Amino acid sequence: MAMLIISDCINCGACEPECPNEAISAGDPIYVIDPDKCTECVGAFDTAKCVEVCPVDGCIIIDPDHTESKDDLEAKYQRLH
Ligand code: SF4
Ligand code: SF4
Repeated sequence: MAMLIISDCINCGACEPECPNEAISAGDPIYVIDPDKCTECVGAFDTAKCVEVCPVDGCIIIDPDHTESKDDLEAKYQRLH
C-alpha cells in the first residue's frame, strides 16, 4: 500500500523531509505522496514517518487504491535505493 494525504493537510511541510523515499512533495492545494515511491516506510522504518510527524491526526491515510503486500513494498524499496 501507499499512503495518501487527504484534504485536512495544512501544508506545514513537516512530512516532506522525513520520507526515506522522497515520495512527498508540495502539491496544489496540498502535499502529495507519489504512490510509486511510498513503501509505507517498509525497508526504512517500523512505522510510517510521515504519519508520525504530521501534526494533523488522520490526515495521512492508507491509500485504498494502492494496495501491496509487505514483500511488494520491500521490493519497491530495493528498486528505489
Ligand atoms: Fe514516505 Fe514513509 Fe510516508 Fe510513504 S509512509 S510517504 S515512504 S514517509
Ligand atoms: Fe500536510 Fe501533515 Fe505533511 Fe503537514 S505533515 S504537509 S499537515 S500531510
